[in-house]
Amino acid sequence: MTNDACGHASVSAESAERPRRIGCPGCNQPLPLRLSQEGERAALWECDACQTRVAGMFVPELATHLAHRVRLGQVHFDAHHSPPIPPVFGELVSRWIRRHDTRGNGPERRRDDRYAVHLEAVVVGLNDQWVPQGRPARALVVDLSRGGLGMVVRSPIKTPLVAVQIEGRTGALQLLGSITWSDHVGSGMHHVGARFVHRLGRGI
Ligand SMILES: [Zn+2]
Repeated sequence: MTNDACGHASVSAESAERPRRIGCPGCNQPLPLRLSQEGERAALWECDACQTRVAGMFVPELATHLAHRVRLGQVHFDAHHSPPIPPVFGELVSRWIRRHDTRGNGPERRRDDRYAVHLEAVVVGLNDQWVPQGRPARALVVDLSRGGLGMVVRSPIKTPLVAVQIEGRTGALQLLGSITWSDHVGSGMHHVGARFVHRLGRGI
């Protein structure tokens, strides 16, 4: 009996601690979010289907199946205080990449075909719980591959993850990546590589 009672008590405690999942209040579809707990700072999200705003914590274990159902709220990408990256730094880094690839160094960076691009973006650092950290900053995406991207930013990124929002003609694309490397390229600019982890929302 004592054993049964103990077992029962421990199961109850576990379920009481499990944070509550959140569905979309607008269209009821399941979202990869849960309610925040004491001491946690929820992020603002948007349902990709109906644009309803939801405050919550991302549940990384649900990302594979549900990351496309939410996007980070635009409040997290307000980078009006951050000056754009001068295009000259994009050119400089693109030239450096071409030289680098020709020399055949860095197999890690050459795993997928890369395409040189010049896309204005906003980047926000995330901690390992996908919670935005610090202020968003403007970035210039200079190369894209199936597996990741390279971008020029003004300050080194100190978080393990980033959300990168790339503006397109018909909307914005949000990509979640993990930082894989960072090089100082002079004049306070940094060339930072990120490996894609998930795309948020269905994109453009
Ligand atoms: Zn919805």
